[in-house]
Amino acid sequence: MARVLVAGGGPAGLAAAVTAARRGSETFLIERYGFLGGMATAGLVNPFMGWHAAGKPLVAGIFQEMLALMAAARGYGCEREPAAFDPEVFKLVADQLCQQSKVQVLFHTLVTHAEVEGPTIKHVHTESKSGGEEWTAEVYVDCTGDADLAFLAGVPCDEGREGDGLTQPMTLNFRMAGVDIDRMPPRDEINRLFDRAKAEGRVTCPRENVLWFHTLNPGVVHFNTTRVTGLSATSAADLTAAEFEARQQAHELARFLVSDVPGFERAYLQQSGAQIGVRESRRIRGHYALTGEDVLEGRKFPDGIARSNYPIDIHSPTGAGTVIRSVPEGDYYEIPYRCLLPRGIDNLLIAGRCISSTHEAQASLRIMPTCFAMGEAAGLAAAMAADRGVPPVEVAPEELRQVLREQGQIV
Ligand SMILES: Cc1cc2nc3c(=O)[nH]c(=O)nc-3n(C[C@H](O)[C@H](O)[C@H](O)COP(=O)(O)OP(=O)(O)OC[C@H]3O[C@@H](n4cnc5c(N)ncnc54)[C@H](O)[C@@H]3O)c2cc1C
Repeated sequence: MARVLVAGGGPAGLAAAVTAARRGSETFLIERYGFLGGMATAGLVNPFMGWHAAGKPLVAGIFQEMLALMAAARGYGCEREPAAFDPEVFKLVADQLCQQSKVQVLFHTLVTHAEVEGPTIKHVHTESKSGGEEWTAEVYVDCTGDADLAFLAGVPCDEGREGDGLTQPMTLNFRMAGVDIDRMPPRDEINRLFDRAKAEGRVTCPRENVLWFHTLNPGVVHFNTTRVTGLSATSAADLTAAEFEARQQAHELARFLVSDVPGFERAYLQQSGAQIGVRESRRIRGHYALTGEDVLEGRKFPDGIARSNYPIDIHSPTGAGTVIRSVPEGDYYEIPYRCLLPRGIDNLLIAGRCISSTHEAQASLRIMPTCFAMGEAAGLAAAMAADRGVPPVEVAPEELRQVLREQGQIV
């Protein structure tokens, strides 16, 4: 049986592994944490950002399957925040999808090294409590978000925006529990109180306003408000500094909410992400790099394998401010299969926020529904290539699109 190895079990990796396994490949999914979901769970990111244009869905397939399973487990959707989900239910449903599809998941295992011969990855090395292990597959799929495997295999990568290489800020998401939600003031008033606390030096977070969402849990409010700039998510030293800084900001914000904002008098900081949220790190250089113009013009491609209309949403890499530029109303753009194919390595596919794109396009394609869609396409292409003993570049895009459609995906 042909083997596919997927590195990283976030939205893209989960969809890739389930799809490859269902297509008949022996599929391994290597994940560094003890649960799946990536930013959706470890990063405590919520809710799912938009996946509809003109009232019609742009993403279906495994993503819709996850939504249905989470809804059945009372872990998706609520009146106040229709696209919110419960991260604990996400973890459970992701386990079940993998187990039912016979994905061989290995948790607590980090991909650390790639052995490369010419344009081919021969083996991938991992480290875990079991020690070092070596893995061999026909096709590898990098869904680490940070393009770790591609980078280790020598694929050229970029990080951040052109010119200064700065990435979007990192954010530690956190939740306040014990909130009297009915007494919460409107968003504008919360922002006015936030500005006052900043002017008085009680809040040091550089964000321009308070970004918050309702959750499925009574009295629990989700905050996507901390902001750490100027640090790289591919440096352990920078990540450490970012965690220190963001935790400080989260507790400062919690104190502000309790002391200044009606409804929070008896609230407390209930939970923060297991790790700081990373919006952007490495992007691989592939056969095509999706651009900001492609996104804003709603460009379609003959090898389009995923659709989105999420705007270019750039949280300032240097301080306050968020730039949003929209796709034309009712329209969408496509992500070409070529963005998943790295330069220089033949038996590797990339899916998720680290595909081949510019900083601007990445600021749109990075949302979770789109990552699911890319993962599904990468998993299918990996299984088709592995089964036929050909490199993924030889999988015909028309056939890939046709099979994706048969699987229920929208392409
Ligand atoms: C603060 C913040 C807010 C956001 N807000 C939203 C939002 O509201 N809605 C929305 O839809 N999207 C949002 N996003 C974007 C979205 O969450 C991510 O872009 C998306 O989860 C990326 O999916 P992915 O599968 O590419 O990578 P990730 O979710 O990053 O998953 C990567 C996985 O790979 C694993 N991994 C990494 N390296 C290794 C390794 N070397 N070995 C083994 N495993 C490894 C990780 O543990 C992780 O499980 C937000 C992101 C952030 C950071």
